Amino acid sequence: MLETEEELLEHEKDRSCAICGRAVGSEGRRFKGRWFCPAHLDKPARHRSGVWWAGLAQLGALLALVLLLEVFLAFIPVRLEGTWLIVAGILLALVPALLWLGFFYQQDRLEPEPKGYVLGVFVLGALLAAAVGLPLVRDVFRVGDWFSQGPLTTLAGSILVIGFSQEFLKYAAVRYSVFGLAEFDERTDGIIYGTAAGLGFATILNLDFILGSGGLNLDVGVIAVVVTALAQACFAGISGYFLGRAKFEHRPWWWLPLGLTLAAFGNGLFTFLRGEVGRSAISLEGGGGFSPWPGLLLATAVTLVVFLLLNWLIRRDIAVTLKEISHQ
Ligand SMILES: [Zn+2]
Repeated sequence: MLETEEELLEHEKDRSCAICGRAVGSEGRRFKGRWFCPAHLDKPARHRSGVWWAGLAQLGALLALVLLLEVFLAFIPVRLEGTWLIVAGILLALVPALLWLGFFYQQDRLEPEPKGYVLGVFVLGALLAAAVGLPLVRDVFRVGDWFSQGPLTTLAGSILVIGFSQEFLKYAAVRYSVFGLAEFDERTDGIIYGTAAGLGFATILNLDFILGSGGLNLDVGVIAVVVTALAQACFAGISGYFLGRAKFEHRPWWWLPLGLTLAAFGNGLFTFLRGEVGRSAISLEGGGGFSPWPGLLLATAVTLVVFLLLNWLIRRDIAVTLKEISHQ
């Protein structure tokens, strides 16, 4: 009798909720190799449409900001230098993150995400970019010394050094902080926290770009800031999607590395193409330097494609979940 009771206890321990970690008890349900306690039974099938509206609003607002500023600056060009470069640079670098946090909290009122965690992951992404991301690319791999030696070198460096280091750090900012907590409890949470980490990362990259430029035309600067923010957020959303599914479903060992690799390849290819299209647009115009417009078009297209793809995947996952649960 005692033995069976122990066995039963042992068995119950295996049945711990994938979200909160507590024993699920007799009311628990099983789904794709994971158990869910009564309090979290509905979570795998919940859809947060607010997250997607916040994302669309973010994209629209950033593009509107660029167009308005570019029209204005076409009449009155502004060059940032000295103190203005520092003050306006800090503000400019913060704009994408502030906009997104604003839209997100607005859409989030009905199904609140713990705001402290979203902000915390954003700060963590920024800290990792400043403490590890930038020094790694600049001082350890010395990318500046060899990056432009030829298209193949640039492509390899974009994917293997920049893509993997940036995407791993943003992934780590989510994976080793909120991922294991009960607050990470919905499929879209990976995308929410991934976006937050990506925007934190982008804020530091943008700050570094602006302050390191030594002087910058505002029309070029604002486009560069928006492109970096969109790219960093959307590729972190990819690994975030993989994290979201790993929390709700039993996935094979290669699942998370696959998500990270896809994000890194996307990031690297984007970094490479952004440089290539920027240069070729200039050579077509016959001038020297770099045009930011093709980069903005590319970033907008890539962000929209990733956004629609993730939305479709999450909807599909939820439909599968509902079907499986109704058959139990
Ligand atoms: Zn639970």
